[in-house]
Formats: sequence, structure tokens, C-alpha cells
Amino acid sequence: MYKIGIDVGGMSIKAGIVKDGQIISKMSKETNCERGVEGLSQDIADLVEDILSQNNIDIKSVSNIGIGIPGVVTNEGAVTCVNLGLKNSLIVPILEEKFKGTKVSIGNDANVAALAEFSYGSMRGYESGVMITLGTGIGGGIIINGKLITGANGIGAEIGHMMLSTNYFDCNCGNNGCFETFCSATAIIKYAQKLAEEGKTTKIIEYAEGNLNNITAKMVFDAYREDDSVAIEVVDRFKKYLAMGLANIVNFIDPQVISIGGGVSNASDIMLNGLNDKVKKHLPFKEGNIGDIVIAEFKNDAGILGASAL
Ligand SMILES: [Zn+2]
Repeated sequence: MYKIGIDVGGMSIKAGIVKDGQIISKMSKETNCERGVEGLSQDIADLVEDILSQNNIDIKSVSNIGIGIPGVVTNEGAVTCVNLGLKNSLIVPILEEKFKGTKVSIGNDANVAALAEFSYGSMRGYESGVMITLGTGIGGGIIINGKLITGANGIGAEIGHMMLSTNYFDCNCGNNGCFETFCSATAIIKYAQKLAEEGKTTKIIEYAEGNLNNITAKMVFDAYREDDSVAIEVVDRFKKYLAMGLANIVNFIDPQVISIGGGVSNASDIMLNGLNDKVKKHLPFKEGNIGDIVIAEFKNDAGILGASAL
């Protein structure tokens, strides 16, 4: 049997046919955010039909269709995502009606990414794991005894909005001091921009060709490798709060493994260097072991693979 994973993003909807943990075919179409739940469901259905017909696969050979979506997904499958025009919207029943006999499931994209790593990637073989995705924001996914934990109302595992300290700007969620305002790619960029604006000389400005809006997290890590003092300040701050965030996760859950993904994890050598000891310093029980801290395996395919495993 085949599985189908759908990765709904703000820019595109990607579909993949998955067999034995491998994506054997992929297809995508532009996301039309104006079309609401009916339109989005139709676009997903069209994509499923197109990818199946392109591969000469009958829907009867598909055991399940899973959808990962950037928004809040309640345990009943109701999705709220402002960017996609969804408010408590039910996509699953529409697709189940179209593809009778095929199981359809839906989950939050960060949870789905965790499921991909747990089922097929860096957390494979473990029973409990937490995934954090350091990208534009910070996504979180918690798996305990092989099961995604999203909470009583489906709004849990929002690790990016764990509040760590006071920060100099507010989070998109309205709070101040969220993990993602310290450790996302956006946070790294903002802090580098702040230091550059304060007049500190740094290679990062050179890399950005003089335009601070061009700064990327990669530029900061590249400058760090060149012993650039501003980059060192930015990265040290990032790692200080990353260690605090991970220590909180260990304090709450003590998972066997923590997997770190997202664009920032491309600088894994810099990120992981000394991280374990930094995390332990924050724990009440410093002599104990902590779980493994690893780097996520899947980049762009996490959404499709994880959704297929829902
Ligand atoms: Zn927040």
C-alpha cells in the first residue's frame, strides 16, 4: 500500500507518494490563500488525483492521506490558520467524502515534522523524543511512547512560545521573551542587525553588501567562523538561550532524544559544540544523564513524510 503526504505551506501545497518511508513521487501547486476551506480542500484533492494518475496508482492502493498544515489543529481536526483564511475549519471530512474508504488525517506542521524524524529519521528507534525546528519561528513536536502529544485541546507543544527571559522586542504571539525571539533564524538576524545599527564593525555587513535587510543567519555563522566579534556575540547569545530552552524541555519531559531542525541547524557544528554541557548547567540535577541532542535529517521533505505517517 502507498501513503500520501500533503505539506500545506503559505506559498505552495506539496504532495508526495510515500512507500516504505521513501518519497517515490512529488508534485506541488501554488497555495491560493483566498479560497478558504472549500478551495483549499479542492486544491488538495486535485493534487492527490494528479499525482496518482501521473504514477498510474489507484486510490484503492492508498492506505491513508495525511496533511500537515501551519496552524492550530484541534484533536477533532479543526484548523485555524489566519494566513490561509481558516478558522475552526474542517478539511478532513471534505476529503474523506471525495476519497471514500481512504483514511484522512491532519496535523500541525511542526508536529508532523517531528513525526517524520521519529518514524524515518534522526529520532528513529527512540520511544520518546522532542523536535524543535529553528526557522522563521520555532516549531515544536513532542512524541512520547511513539505518540504525538498535542494536549487536551490540541494546542500544546508550542515550544517556540515558551517564555525564557525579557527580550528587546515582542513575539508575534503578543508575549515578550518567547524562545523563538531568542533562537529562531529571525532572532539571530534581528540581533545581528541591532548590533550593526549600533555602529559595530562586522564582516556580516560586508556579506550583506551593506544592506542590513539582506542579513541571513548563514551570514552570521559564516562570520563566526572568521572570528568576527559581532558574530561571536550573536551566536553566543543564541546558544545561551538555546541551552536554556533545551534545559526547560529536559526539565519538563526528559526525552530520550531532542532533534534540532530548520535552517539554523545547517550550522550544526557551531550549534552543538559544547551545547550538552551548557544544557546540563541549567538542570537541577546536574550529575544525571540527558538524552541525545541530534540534528534532524529531513529538510524540505519532512512535511510530506511526516504527514504520510499521521
Ligand atoms: Zn510567542
